[in-house]
Parts: sequence; structure tokens; C-alpha cells
Amino acid sequence: MMIVTRFAPSPTGYLHIGGLRTALFSYLFARKNGGKFLLRIEDTDLKRNSIEAAQAIEEAFKWVGLEHDGEIVYQSSRFDLYKQYIQKLLDEGKAYKCYMSKDELDALRKEQEARKERPKYDGRYRDFTGTPPSGIEPVIRIKAPTDGVIEFDDGIKGRVKFNCADILDDFIIARSDGTPTYNLTVTIDDALMGVTDVIRGDDHLSNTPKQIVLYNAFGFKVPKFYHVAMINGSDGAKLSKRHGAMDVMEYKRLGYMPQALLNFLVRLGWSHGDDEIFSLAQMRKCFDPTHISKSSSTFNQSKLEWLNAHYIKELDFDSG
Ligand code: GLU
Repeated sequence: MMIVTRFAPSPTGYLHIGGLRTALFSYLFARKNGGKFLLRIEDTDLKRNSIEAAQAIEEAFKWVGLEHDGEIVYQSSRFDLYKQYIQKLLDEGKAYKCYMSKDELDALRKEQEARKERPKYDGRYRDFTGTPPSGIEPVIRIKAPTDGVIEFDDGIKGRVKFNCADILDDFIIARSDGTPTYNLTVTIDDALMGVTDVIRGDDHLSNTPKQIVLYNAFGFKVPKFYHVAMINGSDGAKLSKRHGAMDVMEYKRLGYMPQALLNFLVRLGWSHGDDEIFSLAQMRKCFDPTHISKSSSTFNQSKLEWLNAHYIKELDFDSG
């Protein structure tokens, strides 16, 4: 089977340094196996500018030397497709319209909090057959399993198990304005784009059981997941602007060599024996996602400086 991976950023207008690491891992896994690496812009929030974001990503990819296969897929151009799939779930009785008002939902949440329960939709419209209340545009919810477990073999974390009763409810797949939610679009697109291996940050781990519910509802094959632990700053807090530049192109402006940045990023969480220096060609040859660490990694500025100095020296040597 051909390996197909993807990078699926939500547009922010620049390529985030943590995003580049995820993209690099996905790219390397595809290239190592003679597969395909796809790029999808998750721009269903129409208020953001997807063209600019895509250009920023392409510019950064070009600078570091990653190339993606095929055309960029824009989720904003696929609303009709998502609608068809939502309708299919409605027709098959696997999803339903929920007319709960915001006030009702708030009241339910308050009651649950008072009882120290996890806030959770109570399924009141799951089997509703009456006349819908007027003046409410419904959301669409999936009929999720209420008991049992959802489990999968994560390529990094190993066997992951979720108790449906603890983590699921009939979650929303389309908002009242008809726009589809992230879990719905990501599932449809990964399946239709033929993605076999999903490598992404472990901040998405809690979304995975929801996506598995949707894969099963549609009868799609569930891909292999790899949830990569986050990058922390040297103070142990999640990487953010105060630890340094977040925009990949900022590193170009600051005088870093693209090879140094890639080498630095590939070693944030991945290892190959005791090796430290990897050209892109070497990474492509030896990358194996099962050697990605389970624990979070630390952004170490002096290591980046050291690698940059190494590649600058190599450049002087080559040209002299
Ligand atoms: N668009 C999501 C994000 O930027 C990515 C989702 C995924 O990789 O599944 O976080």
C-alpha cells in the first residue's frame, strides 16, 4: 500500500515553527517510503484569509526545501461535498437535527457542573419525532456510541483506549449556519484524499475518538495515527512567542540556514542512534516515525545556534 501523509494547517498567515516540525515528519515518512505528501488548508472559518496563508506556507516550504505532491486542497472550496456527506448521515439515521437553544444548553451545563459532572449534551433530540420548535436553526449531531471503548494503535503512544461514556457525547458535525465542524471535515478529507498515516500534534489526541466514530459512520478505513508530543520552551511551558520567533520565515530574516532549522526540528522528538547532523537527504533515508519520542521535547536555542554554525562552516568550506 502506498503511504500517503498530509499536513493540514489552519490558516494563520505564517508557518508556525511547531507546524514545520509536523510537516517535516509527515514529509519524511512519505519520502522514505516512496509515498505522497499532501497539503490541505483547513480554512472553513471564512473570516480568515486562506490564500495568504497558503502562500506563506508555500514560501516557507520553498525556503527549507520541502515539496508537497499535487494541488493544495482548500477546505473552503469543499462545502458542497461536506453537505452531501452530512445529508448521507441524516438519511441513514446516523445523525440528527438538534433544536436545543443556547439557553437550554447553558442551563444543562450549569446543572451538570452543580452535580460535578462532565458537561455533556444529553441526547434529548436523538430520537425526536415531534414538531420542531420554531425560530431555532438546528445544529446537526452524530449519534455517537454511549458505551464501550474506542481504541487504536498509535504509532508513537502505543495502544490508546477511550471509554465512550467518559469522553463522548453526540457531538456537533454542522453548526446552525450549516458550516461543518473540524472533526467532520478532517475525517472526510483524510479519507477522500487517501491519507494512510496521520502525523499530528498530540493536542489533537482527544479529537481522534470522535474522528473514529465518523470513520465508522461513513464506512471509511481508519488511518494509522501518530500523535507527536508538544515542543516546550526551556522553562517547560508550551512553546510560544516569548520563547523566540514562531514564524519560520523569521528564522530566515535572522540569518539561519534552512538546513540548520530542519536539522534542529527533526531532532526535536526524533532520534536515530546518537546522530546529530542530518542533511535533508539523510533524514529522508532514515526517518522512522516509531522512533519519535513519547515525551515532549525542549526548544534549545543554543543547539540551534550550534547547528547553524555547523552549516555555515560547511558552506564556507564548500565554496572555499
Ligand atoms: N487544522 C488542524 C490544526 O492546524 C490540523 C488537524 C490535523 O492535523 O488533523 O491544528
